[in-house]
Amino acid sequence: MMNIIDGKAISKQIKDEVKEKVAALKAQGVTVTLAVVQVGNDPASSVYVNNKKKACAYTGMESESFELPEETTQEELLSLIEELNNRKEINGILVQLPLPEHIDENAVIRAISPKKDVDGFHPQSVGALCIGQPGFVSCTPAGIIELLKRSGIEIAGKECVIIGRSNIVGKPMALLMLRENATVTITHSKTKDLKDVCKRADILIVAIGKPQMITEEYVKEGAVVIDVGIHRREEGLCGDVDFERVSGHCSYITPVPGGVGPMTIAMLMHNCVESVALQTE
Ligand code: NDP
Repeated sequence: MMNIIDGKAISKQIKDEVKEKVAALKAQGVTVTLAVVQVGNDPASSVYVNNKKKACAYTGMESESFELPEETTQEELLSLIEELNNRKEINGILVQLPLPEHIDENAVIRAISPKKDVDGFHPQSVGALCIGQPGFVSCTPAGIIELLKRSGIEIAGKECVIIGRSNIVGKPMALLMLRENATVTITHSKTKDLKDVCKRADILIVAIGKPQMITEEYVKEGAVVIDVGIHRREEGLCGDVDFERVSGHCSYITPVPGGVGPMTIAMLMHNCVESVALQTE
């Protein structure tokens, strides 16, 4: 039987858990605050930033917004980050990507204190994940682990194939699945016989950035299929997986919208509340 994984419901569960933790901290006199920095006014970024601010309000966290003009220099942005790193009442710093072309994203990511790196993009956070030490985990892959666990899907010992090796999805996803004791294969644009490799997967995680590329020809009967892709079309959103063609062949599948997408923000909220403990260590 095919089951649709309900990312909306699971993300609400997580946000409600965060809400309780935020309230408990408030009762001890601790306010959780996320600084949200946006440079320029890219419409897609503005939607993401607004959703993050709404999620903060839902969970009872404070958010402080920094909306900087497109022509902000790298030095100006770095000096704002330094100020936020030093402000004790700021727990998490989120710089919405992508940044304008004249700003070096890596330099900005490196400038954020690893103790406030709620996106989990800092090299120290990635290194900690790699060697199994505490640190922030990139929100989208962390959300996928929660989707699997909270849907009762066993990970240990399973063959997991990931399509995509980006720093924000594919690579951290592979490390997390390894941590959960899956047998992991990472594929990318140079992989030979992609269909055959994907057909080995008990759990297929697709982060390829190509609308509806993955059809039933890539999916083993009864596999779990996680679709990370988000594409805006006139008819609405779609993922990297052709849902109509694949859903009849798998045991579990995430829809787009309503699958992985809502989990990313829920895990950001989770990271913000966890940051309090990291900062008081
Ligand atoms: P990237 O474009 O950074 O990475 C895509 C990866 O797919 C690359 O590793 C690339 O390989 C690989 N790839 C591209 N074409 C092929 C192909 N034909 N065969 C095999 N592999 C291929 O994308 P992201 O990881 O940032 O994002 C992936 C998707 O997930 C996008 O649709 C994005 O919008 C979405 N997304 C959704 C999020 C959410 O919250 N739900 C969060 C982040 C992303 P190579 O390395 O060789 O180029």
